[in-house]
Amino acid sequence: MSDLKLKCRNPDVNMVERFGDHGGYFDLVVRPILQQGHEGELCSWLKEMSLIRTVSNCPHSTCKRRTMIWNPARIIDKYNWGCPECNKKLSIREGSFFLAIKCDLKLCLQTILGWCQVVPETVAANYLNLKVHVVKRIYERCTQVANAYVDNHPEEWSLGGRDRVLVVDEFPGGYMGAENPIDVTVHKKRNNNSQTILCIAEASAIPPRMWFHMIKAVPEVPIPNAGKCGMVEEALKEVVRHAAPGSFIVANSRARCCSYESLQELKQFKVISVENLQKFDAPGTNNLLHNLETIWQTGVEVCEDVQEATQSMGQHILSTHLWRQRFGTTSSTAFQYMLHHIAECYRFI
Ligand SMILES: [Zn+2]
Repeated sequence: MSDLKLKCRNPDVNMVERFGDHGGYFDLVVRPILQQGHEGELCSWLKEMSLIRTVSNCPHSTCKRRTMIWNPARIIDKYNWGCPECNKKLSIREGSFFLAIKCDLKLCLQTILGWCQVVPETVAANYLNLKVHVVKRIYERCTQVANAYVDNHPEEWSLGGRDRVLVVDEFPGGYMGAENPIDVTVHKKRNNNSQTILCIAEASAIPPRMWFHMIKAVPEVPIPNAGKCGMVEEALKEVVRHAAPGSFIVANSRARCCSYESLQELKQFKVISVENLQKFDAPGTNNLLHNLETIWQTGVEVCEDVQEATQSMGQHILSTHLWRQRFGTTSSTAFQYMLHHIAECYRFI
């Protein structure tokens, strides 16, 4: 019988292969303690990783925060906390990522790996024999953790540096993915409210490292001598936050929020215009624009997804992309980072 047929007969075999990380951290450290009978080790490891509490205090006022005792229990988690004073029981999931997730901890961990590997919800549910809404819930929490991490650690997305080239543009508009200005009305039709996204890319890296920021200020009709409009101000702040001083910035005159003209006021950068660089292309060629198109390829896809979504979902799409771009190069590292970021997001007091 071929391997394939064997796998189909025994869905577990297939599941285990899919939800592994090619001999990485999950396979070496986590998988062995997911076996039946290893629940004690699993809990010790979860405590060591700060994924569940290592101490618990009784919430009853009469017990004066009495330290609770770790007890074996006939429940799904196999353990709980018990108060020696009033006998109150507390879940070992209290205050953790796993609270109120309706599946055992082993399946939770495998579902987190599924999120890290971008396994579709229904596929993960099928493999792990879980209800889709349970997988959805875990995936949502992973997305929230990634979003919180991106929000709280702008320093991880500092791009460029002395003499390094950054491309700054906006979507829709500018030169992103189009030789002609993108027809803004096309995007407006889809969502009634097109989202302007400031995009910064480090040209030297492949795939290019990027930063995205959804502009919150509403576009204004420019009034002569009225100073900077809100969009420009917001975009410049974001460029300063994510582009290291000394970078060469390639910008263009089409962009509304981050034009070549407005970026020139930031003296810590050397700003060059696309329109000027185009003059160096051999007559009849469009090398520069083709290069820009290549740099923006993934960026354009992400920005298009955002246009189809609501504003808060759009922000999730951007943050998740940024997180995966930074931490998800392999499923093994993505899983390790995700566990650390979960611990940071759900700190126990
Ligand atoms: Zn008590």
